[in-house]
Amino acid sequence: MATTHALAGIVVASVAALLVPDHATTALLAGAAGGLFPDLDAVVGTHRKTLHFPAYGWVVAVPAVGLAVLVTGPWSVALACFTTAAAFHALSDWAEGGVEWRGWERNTDRAVYCHLTGEWLTAKRWVRYDGAPEDLLCSAVLAGVALLVVSGLTRWLVVGLLAVGTVYTLVRRRVPGVVDRLRART
Ligand SMILES: [Zn+2]
Repeated sequence: MATTHALAGIVVASVAALLVPDHATTALLAGAAGGLFPDLDAVVGTHRKTLHFPAYGWVVAVPAVGLAVLVTGPWSVALACFTTAAAFHALSDWAEGGVEWRGWERNTDRAVYCHLTGEWLTAKRWVRYDGAPEDLLCSAVLAGVALLVVSGLTRWLVVGLLAVGTVYTLVRRRVPGVVDRLRART
């Protein structure tokens, strides 16, 4: 789910925060944003295809990390954290269930589109669907790791993401039905 991806982005960026403490907040916020970014394609394109790059994402992220090492500044660190978190998000969707609204029904094995091979990667289903209990467990572990590193306001961001993820997990299986009923009324 989105909050797990944001927390994963924060954990990825924690490495940068530890290495360059002067830019820690920038790194952590960029990591969270990069973790969330790919799922915007659920709104603006084909979900898990338009903005998801499980292979090409690294072609951008690795040079961005190299640039941040060579020329360390707020923008290069932010770019490195954002692109790495976004690439990690796309790759980690492979471990989830198929790209469908009711993932527990298992109607598709398509996890995430790989632009390099021109094919959908087959869902591994280590996490059955977004908002599954095991998804929340991932969030909790990531939040625990993040809280070892972050401080100040970013702590509240981590706690807030975990809280939102917990509520989402509790109501997840009812969400499609509620949305369908609302659509039927309009
Ligand atoms: Zn995604």
